[in-house]
Order: sequence, then C-alpha cells, then structure tokens
Amino acid sequence: MASSSKDKPHDRLKTRSNSLPLLNAPDVSKSGNPKNCGKCGKFVKDNTKAVCCEFCSVWFHTKCEGISDEIYNFLNEGGEQIHWFCKKCNDMAIDVMKLVQSLKEKNDLLEKKIDELSQQVEDLSSLKDDFAGKVRDIVREEVKEIKDKEERACNVVISSIPESVASDSKGDEGRRSDLEKVNYLIHEVLQAPDVKVVTTHRVPKLRDGNASFNRKTVVKLEAPNQRNKLLRIAKNLRGKEEWQGVYINPDLTVKERKKDYELRKELKHRRENGEHNLVLVGGKIVVSNRRQANASSFLLRSHSHVGSQNMQQQ
Ligand SMILES: [Zn+2]
Ligand SMILES: [Zn+2]
Repeated sequence: MASSSKDKPHDRLKTRSNSLPLLNAPDVSKSGNPKNCGKCGKFVKDNTKAVCCEFCSVWFHTKCEGISDEIYNFLNEGGEQIHWFCKKCNDMAIDVMKLVQSLKEKNDLLEKKIDELSQQVEDLSSLKDDFAGKVRDIVREEVKEIKDKEERACNVVISSIPESVASDSKGDEGRRSDLEKVNYLIHEVLQAPDVKVVTTHRVPKLRDGNASFNRKTVVKLEAPNQRNKLLRIAKNLRGKEEWQGVYINPDLTVKERKKDYELRKELKHRRENGEHNLVLVGGKIVVSNRRQANASSFLLRSHSHVGSQNMQQQ
C-alpha cells in the first residue's frame, strides 16, 4: 500500500502504552472526536494499548479490535512501511487505494495529452501568422479577379479583324478604322443596331519596334446585356464568306482564360480517346444527347479554334 500521508505513521498509528517509546496519543483523535474506542466507546486511557486507524482516525483498544501483543509490537516497530486500518475501514481503504491508483493513471495520461496539445498549440500559433498572410493573399486575389471581371463585363474580344498598319502608330486614325469596322460588323452584318460600341482597342499592346500583326480587338459595349446579345447572335457569322475566321468571344480574365484553355485541352484529349457527344456547358464538360451535340458542334469548333489563341491574349 502506498504511504502517502503527510502525517508520520507514528503519530497516528498506535500507542497508549507507556512501555513503548511512542508519541502520546492526542486528547482528541484526528477526526475531531474525543478519543473513545471505536468499538466499545469507552475512553482510551494513556496506559492502555490502543491503535489508531489510518483511515478513519478513530482509536481502538487492541483487545476490542482483536490485536495480539505480537502484532501490536510489530506495528510499533514497522515504521513507515506498515499501515493499519480498522476492520470497518479495511475493505473501503483497499477500494480507495485502487481508485486513487486508477485516478493517478488517468491523471498521468491526461497530463501527457495536455503536454502534446500544448505542443500542438505552440506549433499552430507559429503557423498562424503564415496562415493569416495566405488568407490575405487569397482574398486580395479574389477581389482583384472580381474587379477584373466587372471591368470586362461589357466587353467582347473579336479575332481576325484585319488590322490596318496605322492602328497603333497613328493612334486616333487606327482606332477610328477599327471602330468603323466593328460598327459595320455589329450593325450591318449582324443587324444589331441597339448594340452600342463605346471603345475598341487591340491586344496585346505593341512594344516599340514591333511590327503590327493581326491582333485581337477588344470591344467595350454600352452594357452587359448588349454584350450577351452580341455573343448570342455571333453564330450568325457562320457561312458568311468574307467573315470567315472572325469569332466573337467573351473578354475573359487571365484566370478564366487559363481555366478555359485547360478545359478545352481536356475536351480534346477525351474526344481523341473515343468519348462522343461531349459539350461544354457552364464551364464544364458534359455528355449531351445527339441533337444538342449537333447544335453546338459549330460553337465548339469555333471556340476550340480561338481557345489556343486566347492564351496569348494579354
Ligand atoms: Zn474498546
Ligand atoms: Zn477505521
């Protein structure tokens, strides 16, 4: 049994015998009761042999508790190793010891867990700053993307409109020339006079010394619904000889272009691997029924043609 009491066993174990070199028993037992025998209830006099229960702190005449002189001497001489409990307390004491032991084990386990957790908390708090920085970057990027989309919401990108040599080198003249061509395309060819062009410019920008080539034309319209209309009727260019190779597409952000490019690459790959009736709907590849596949085949062809060029656009 564990000897974990703060009291010395000598102080509370036994005595009442003048013949033994022990401390005198107190006038009042540890439990606060007057020192009456726990068995017979009579006062425990100084000159009688008696033992104090380590558990309930009640004194007992050795005779009342059936303790032989041999055991009494043994208890006296046993020192801190020996513990004595009255009969009443004995079973309870063992249970309590077991309970204490299991609580101690649980406590040890908890302390170990707490150590592990506090280590993790330490690790986490060192990651916290890192994490906050990453979240800030992501939010910043998202905000930038949203603004970018808003700025492009009224735009379309038209490919293969012949570029006059003057379009960049002589500013206004070039722009006017593009503006006239785009207006002609939208108002006369596609017959949508309600779609108003605000500005046009070519992408990518030319750097000094670079020759002009057949760049795309970014066209800003008056409102997003005009843009949507133009995109809807763009397929009417099909079959018009002089507008062959001219495609009208949404003005995608860099991120959207990248996604679009990857999507078309995947679509091409899957078709080459024998999958049929695949179409792009809402930025996803889906399997269409035959009729829909036929209806959208032109759009897909035209898009995949432009798709690779889109990546070059600035
Ligand atoms: Zn007694
Ligand atoms: Zn007891």
